[in-house]
Amino acid sequence: MNQETIRNFCIIAHIDHGKSTLADRFLELTQTIERRKMREQFLDQMDLEREKGITIKMQPVRMLWRPDSPERSEGPEYILNLIDTPGHADFSYEVSRSLAAVEGAVLLVDATKGIQAQTLAHLREAQKLDLVLIPAVNKIDSPLARTEEVVVEVSKLLQCEPKEVFRISAKEGTNVKELLDSVVARVPCPKGGYEKRFRALIFDSHFDAFKGVIAFVRVVDGSIKGTDKIFFLGTKAEAFCKEVGYFLPQEASAPVLCAGEIGYVATGVKEPSQVRIGDTISASQGAEPIPGFEVPNPVVFVSLYPQDSDDFDILKDALLKLHLQDPSFTFDLEAKEALGRGFRCGFLGVLHSEIITERVKREFRIEMVISRPSVEFILETQDGKTQSVKTPAEWPEQHLVKAMKEPWAELQIITPPAFLSNTIQLLQGFEAEQKEVQDIGDNKLLLRYFMPLREIVGGLYENLKNATQGMASMDYQFKEFREASLVKLEFLVAGVAEEALSVIVPRDKAYLEGKLIVEKLKELLPKQLFEVALQAAIGGKIIARETIAARRRDVTAPLYGGDVTRKNKLLERQKKGKKEMKEKGKVIIPSRVFLDIFRT
Ligand code: GDP
Ligand code: MG
Repeated sequence: MNQETIRNFCIIAHIDHGKSTLADRFLELTQTIERRKMREQFLDQMDLEREKGITIKMQPVRMLWRPDSPERSEGPEYILNLIDTPGHADFSYEVSRSLAAVEGAVLLVDATKGIQAQTLAHLREAQKLDLVLIPAVNKIDSPLARTEEVVVEVSKLLQCEPKEVFRISAKEGTNVKELLDSVVARVPCPKGGYEKRFRALIFDSHFDAFKGVIAFVRVVDGSIKGTDKIFFLGTKAEAFCKEVGYFLPQEASAPVLCAGEIGYVATGVKEPSQVRIGDTISASQGAEPIPGFEVPNPVVFVSLYPQDSDDFDILKDALLKLHLQDPSFTFDLEAKEALGRGFRCGFLGVLHSEIITERVKREFRIEMVISRPSVEFILETQDGKTQSVKTPAEWPEQHLVKAMKEPWAELQIITPPAFLSNTIQLLQGFEAEQKEVQDIGDNKLLLRYFMPLREIVGGLYENLKNATQGMASMDYQFKEFREASLVKLEFLVAGVAEEALSVIVPRDKAYLEGKLIVEKLKELLPKQLFEVALQAAIGGKIIARETIAARRRDVTAPLYGGDVTRKNKLLERQKKGKKEMKEKGKVIIPSRVFLDIFRT
């Protein structure tokens, strides 16, 4: 194995700027995927990714490439390891893990959109790691492309000459070959010690029922064979390796993985917690750990309850398995069992929470009740104790709360000047502090704001998209905890408190919010055979009320009718007897209602 012919790189860009499409062209050019098997955004393999049209998981792939040269047929063949990464802010942890495994990155910017919030965020990360950056402006074929303006903008950002910026169309393939040749020419080869003892960085993993945890690794030193004994430096676990191999992009076994290469190690380990992303695998326990990357702290918290309490163990197993692929979400047993046994989960953002809960539903087939997203509050109670509260269910009785703090974030918004007044107007409706408005050229303004994270989590992004016809982009980072004046707003349906509907709101907005949600509930809840009261309350005091009228009784189905369907129903009911008892006299809220109510 000759390290000089290896190039490890990834593509970084704002969402929708064309990373996955560019990866498709690379796969075709290098003939990694047979033509008949090729489909658009090939590397987005999850159903959810294909539906939403976004990349959620990074996906490594190994390609072979002989760059153009006069002696093309004699020139060396290069091994190109590409990692396609997600662009959305909530998945930046995926990006930072991919960046740790490569030496260079193609920075892709859409010629119709220009630089966006995540372009800047990913660029900052790549620069921190000293990666070689190859700038490219994509979608030059589009009638809306402003190629030369965007090229100038990008060259300023990277402090390079406009002629160094590639002008490509990932869709049509224009200049894609030249870009790939430039990756070979400019991205340095890996610098591991081939003769040294084996060490590799785990940057991703998943679970295989037969081969145990499959660790995605970047080999830093030495080499590993499919039968070697391996040690995990962080978790102190050890195992005999079952198999090693490459990504084509499906896993294909190989005799050995060497320094500088990207591939997988089937560890045979059956206990997911023993193989941690960011940990070092080595040939001996005494080796020096490879500097990993920090797991970011979750900022959005959501409670998950199985709709059928018998599914609790399946839910637990689902969370354990998904956590293996994505250690950036956390889950703990819900302390206050407001809705039966469930989990309190922490996520990096709202989209992150939606994606993970959707995956639990689909991949493990569990129906769940999902609470409204919340942030972490720090409360001081009357007895002088401080406590962290991450979901409304954990909020103590209002009269016991003495003081509280809530997280604030710094928000960056990039928008064309035409939408400046709309954006400012929108933000005035939130408790936002304007810090700065900066002209960043190419008809773009960068706005900096400070704002409670609670408000960002509560649907700011959707609102911003609406206010700017989808032209603005945003990014945010946690900044600090600040004093706040908040209360827990509760909702009662037919006299029963529905904990999953509870929400923490500023005291002076509680009234309005309570009224709004009660009205929305009236619209969303299906009618019952009896009249249903909907109430909003703070600390037991009712502040808003609506009533849903009763549905007319269905006279064609008398209670003791003798028809067959009725009998069958009774039989079924006997089976489910226990479950039905619990639900008797209570309004069952369809999980769809929970979801719709949180969409502001
Ligand atoms: P990603 O989110 O960065 O992975 O972006 P995708 O590769 O999924 O592309 C987003 C959208 O842009 C898709 O609808 C693509 O078809 C489109 N797209 C990508 N590259 C080009 C291009 O060169 N020209 C045009 N016109 N559209 C493109
Ligand atoms: Mg993609």
